Amino acid sequence: MEKCKERVSNDGWHWRNCRKPIWKDGYCKIHHPESVQKRIEKSIEKEKEKYELSPLGRLEEAQKEIEKLKKENEKLKKAIQQNVSSRLKER
Ligand SMILES: [Zn+2]
Repeated sequence: MEKCKERVSNDGWHWRNCRKPIWKDGYCKIHHPESVQKRIEKSIEKEKEKYELSPLGRLEEAQKEIEKLKKENEKLKKAIQQNVSSRLKER
């Protein structure tokens, strides 16, 4: 039976051919580029989640929230000013 064509290493020094049977296109299920790509995407997703939950990620989120509130606040201030000045003019 043919084996996966990927070279694997356990320690970063010694390389051998993967011993798993071929799943598709000459690769086993683990080493097929599709699976590798999926694993990469998954780990990126995980890293992103980790970042979002980290103090730095939360700080970034909080800063965005602050910016939003600042803008809201500016709008409110302007609305109040307009309201007051139009009332003053009425007198
Ligand atoms: Zn393999």
